[in-house]
Amino acid sequence: MQYDGHVLVVEDEPALRIDLVDFLLARGFQVDQAATCRESLDLLERARPDLILLDLALPDGSGFAVAAAARQRYGLSVGIIMLTAFGDEAHRLAGLGVGADIYLVKDTSLREIEACCRNLLRRLRPSLTENADAAAPAWRVDEMLWQLLTPDGGVVSLTATEIAFLKPLMAAPHVPQKRSHLSPGGEPRNLDAVVLRLRRKIEAVSSHPPPFKAVYGSGYVFTGVPSEPRNSV
Ligand code: CA
Repeated sequence: MQYDGHVLVVEDEPALRIDLVDFLLARGFQVDQAATCRESLDLLERARPDLILLDLALPDGSGFAVAAAARQRYGLSVGIIMLTAFGDEAHRLAGLGVGADIYLVKDTSLREIEACCRNLLRRLRPSLTENADAAAPAWRVDEMLWQLLTPDGGVVSLTATEIAFLKPLMAAPHVPQKRSHLSPGGEPRNLDAVVLRLRRKIEAVSSHPPPFKAVYGSGYVFTGVPSEPRNSV
């Protein structure tokens, strides 16, 4: 299994951002999120998304600045969908002027937004869909040896708590899991510390980013590709 595409969601309204992020994760996309221009620009320096879902009115500036920065850095290979409450022609033209590919008003349904994302991705990156069956680098937990094997051959020693966190996540990739399902005995108090430590251990041995993300207000989601189960998860 492979991601359908990497989407950066830029939106300062928390409820709307969470809706978009959760929906796109559940639909199989890899998702990063940002609430401000600053956060967006920082993220764009670290990684190139396939697609940016971009709010126009941000607390520290305009989405146009983010679009311009993305174009300057990555050219036309990044898809830009402007998402805004402003429906008027001036904003629409301004959005197209900096190279937005699609313009949507905010009452567009999540399903329509997904359809726009998929259409745009097909146009921009036909190889993404054509290569969907190619072997993707996978993550694997070896429960006998208490190890996480990274796609690039790194080995991370795991504690029982870390295995209890990874197993349910990897069993259902892209599906957010509640915090209470990810802790031994359902006690999530120290979960964030466990996850932080695991992140650092992975980052020490692999060039792949840790394959899980926090889902705001909910728990965590596995964002990597788990291997086919053999004697392990
Ligand atoms: Ca806004």
